[in-house]
Amino acid sequence: MPVDLHAHSRVSDGSDAPEKLVDLAVAAGLSALALTDHDTLEGLPAARARAEACGLRLIPGTEISCGGGLHLIVLFLEPGPGPLQDRLAWIRDGREDRNRAILDRLATIGIDIDEDELAEEAGGGVTGRPHIAARLVAHGHAESITDAFDRYLGAGRIGYLPRRTLEAADATALARASGAVPIVAHPHTLDPDLGPRLDARLQVLADAGLVGIEVHYPGYDADTRARVRRLADRHGLLASGGSDYHGTYKPHLQLGVGDGGLEVPDDVLEALAEHAR
Ligand code: AMP
Ligand code: FE
Ligand code: FE
Ligand code: ZN
Repeated sequence: MPVDLHAHSRVSDGSDAPEKLVDLAVAAGLSALALTDHDTLEGLPAARARAEACGLRLIPGTEISCGGGLHLIVLFLEPGPGPLQDRLAWIRDGREDRNRAILDRLATIGIDIDEDELAEEAGGGVTGRPHIAARLVAHGHAESITDAFDRYLGAGRIGYLPRRTLEAADATALARASGAVPIVAHPHTLDPDLGPRLDARLQVLADAGLVGIEVHYPGYDADTRARVRRLADRHGLLASGGSDYHGTYKPHLQLGVGDGGLEVPDDVLEALAEHAR
């Protein structure tokens, strides 16, 4: 049975409750699901309870954006204090000031979104630009989430501000120090050519303790998977993957199957688990 090791619920920038993801995973015939909300493990208790009831294997995880298109999936990360867990709390704290500053900037061009409606949009979880984008759409300032980023929220637009980030090698080392398993997500976002730039980056991260890379991702054809797999082999990395499901925030992606052609074999999970402690 396939697995899905990359998915977001509404405790970050997905639209579904964590329990709903478990239900979707069961319906899709998956044997395991990793919940990888951005910067938080808040959805874990609810997802775990439902997974136990359904007999689905639930892997605790998170996704960390490290800049330059490098996103790190961290699996087998447990809630509570810890080297990486404490840094995630620091990142989350920084988001509150940033969100307020973004709303202030939008107000200067006559767009009024208040903090309460933003909090409601986010459903109490980690709040970020996708939620602001959804309000921009709701107010008729953009046609879609992507359009809202293009017009207002992307780098260089009026509503863009940087946020607290962790450098990738630091995040990788902190993940290992927390007993968790760091994996480079969707490598095309840090190098569309999957070329020397990616290769050099992987060398640095492998030295810092990187365990895996996403070989399986929506839109990756057999040729792309083969190229990422060769890089993985060269750096001694395991071949992970997942749908990057976000519910209505990325409506073209379904849990388990992504854009339809995704299938993540389950054998990687045991190999990944061996690196957790
Ligand atoms: P934040 O962490 O608040 O900076 O928001 C980053 C999130 O916004 C990412 O996880 C993406 O899912 C989403 N995002 C970034 N750029 C775009 C875009 N051009 N279109 C749609 N979603 C985007
Ligand atoms: Fe996201
Ligand atoms: Fe990502
Ligand atoms: Zn993701």
